[in-house]
Amino acid sequence: MSHQEAPAPVPPYFRSQDPATSHANQALARLRQEALSPLPQNYELWFAYYAQTHLDVVHALDTLSTSKQPITDSLCEGLHQRFLSEAKNSETVRETGARIQATITGMSSRVDAARAATHQYKEALQTAASEFSAPGGSEKIRGTLRTVLDNTSDMLAHNQQLEDALAQSSLVMQALERDLETVRKQSLTDSLTALANRKAFDTEIARLSQQAQANGLGYCMVMLDIDHFKVFNDTYGHQVGDDVLRLVGRTLGQGVRSGDMAARYGGEEFAILLPSTALPAALKLANALRATIEGMSLKRRKSGDTLSRITLSGGVAEMALGESPDALVARADAALYLAKSRGRNRIEVHALGH
Ligand code: GH3
Ligand code: MG
Ligand code: MG
Repeated sequence: MSHQEAPAPVPPYFRSQDPATSHANQALARLRQEALSPLPQNYELWFAYYAQTHLDVVHALDTLSTSKQPITDSLCEGLHQRFLSEAKNSETVRETGARIQATITGMSSRVDAARAATHQYKEALQTAASEFSAPGGSEKIRGTLRTVLDNTSDMLAHNQQLEDALAQSSLVMQALERDLETVRKQSLTDSLTALANRKAFDTEIARLSQQAQANGLGYCMVMLDIDHFKVFNDTYGHQVGDDVLRLVGRTLGQGVRSGDMAARYGGEEFAILLPSTALPAALKLANALRATIEGMSLKRRKSGDTLSRITLSGGVAEMALGESPDALVARADAALYLAKSRGRNRIEVHALGH
């Protein structure tokens, strides 16, 4: 065998036994197997899958694999955005926080320096005062005055520097504050629908539960799920499916009052939190939203072709005294599954004791 025919040597990191290497190899092999483009985000997603660093990624990709749906670049992009980019948002919040901390630390050391200079100035003044009261000639007084004036102009220069530094830091802090606020909002917003995301929902339901515990104000939740959405995606493609998710998101967002929260709970599921609302009113609202969606006639954006109707099934539950958010979500889910089993495009209530 000639030298040229020898197989290319395998680089050492592809042969190494460490887990990161084996996850990298598995991820690359999977990209080839699924005919995915070797894009960084595809690699990152599958690396996360094999390394099991994000269990929601594992779950989502397993669900896709078992559903026998073709795994496409755009599906991977969606999953990457949902599970990995949003996680990076909180990373950015942490980094911005660290930058604010560094600015504050820098400012405190400048303030310390200014304090030391003021102290020195005070001592110079005290020395001058004691020398003025001591007997002595005018030459000595002139000398002392010169020292005081020198010290004063040093002091003024120091103060000017501090003022400039404070003004500069204040601008930096204001910019950082704006960045932080933007990132904080992004980290609580679902990028596809612009509704509150799952994290925002979890925080809000915990807050409502604590509030209910404290002042007895109850609340209701509605869980909504698009009916047969897999078939819709299979028929019209994922992008049209995404347009529908945006439309449903907008409809729900506009259909609730300002103190309520409409959130994308995940995939094609939406959750609504209704503070200070009793079960009959929550059921009425859920049914109104369901009817609005059912009544929409959808058209394909480019061709204008009419698409099949979209319907929602839903479950409504009212928080019981002392009930945990998880237990309430589970009851709303149970009502949702009842709605599915009773024929879809309907809302069911989970009443306690039933
Ligand atoms: P059911 O009436 O029982 O809810 O049926 P279903 O097909 O809606 O439910 P299933 O859980 O089997 O499938 C959910 C589908 O939702 C599969 C997936 O393709 C789609 N989906 C989830 N997230 C997204 C997304 O971000 N974009 C698009 N286009 N589709 C999504
Ligand atoms: Mg679902
Ligand atoms: Mg569904």
